[in-house]
Amino acid sequence: MSDYQQRVTDSFNERKRLIRLRRRKENLRFWQEFGIIPRWLIILVIVLFLAAQAIAFLVNMSAPQRGDQIFPPELRDNPALASLALAGIVTAASLCMAVMIFMIAYVNRDASRRGMSAALWTILVLILLPAWGFIGFVIYFLMREPLPYPCPQCGNTVGARFNFCPNCKCNLHPSCPQCKREIAESDKFCPYCGNDLKSALNAAEIPAQGTA
Ligand SMILES: [Zn+2]
Ligand SMILES: [Zn+2]
Repeated sequence: MSDYQQRVTDSFNERKRLIRLRRRKENLRFWQEFGIIPRWLIILVIVLFLAAQAIAFLVNMSAPQRGDQIFPPELRDNPALASLALAGIVTAASLCMAVMIFMIAYVNRDASRRGMSAALWTILVLILLPAWGFIGFVIYFLMREPLPYPCPQCGNTVGARFNFCPNCKCNLHPSCPQCKREIAESDKFCPYCGNDLKSALNAAEIPAQGTA
């Protein structure tokens, strides 16, 4: 591998590590995340579910008048139990559909929240869905950008790829004072040279505060 390739790989891996660290801090809660799905879509899915139940029930109950058998045929002598079985099947099918619809809506909303192309990711997930199932979602969850987060110094919302806070010029990608490679704020020791970052940071901060 040439020196240039090596450097590209190194910087790519470094970036990946920082993105992972940033994402781990996001600490997403399921219901909080569910909340980004638009309310109207949830209502629409519930209405469609109830409509499907009603239609399935009515069609099934009117089957004998049309000369058909009640579904499932094993329960034709017990219409109440047959209706219950049918309702169960409709519920299971609706649940699968609902999960799919909500996941597509989630990708759409989450991508735009993270500054990614919402249309592109929604289309990708939709295209992969018939043949590849949920693989599109797996790709999305692996590839998605970290959420914007508050600047550690002033609290202003900053993008995950910003190098400096646009409000206070805080360095958002601090580097190790010894080897100058990029580190995460949460690192206690430099992952590359083992430098004790806590004492190095305190030593750098105290005189800075003294002159301010
Ligand atoms: Zn700031
Ligand atoms: Zn270092």
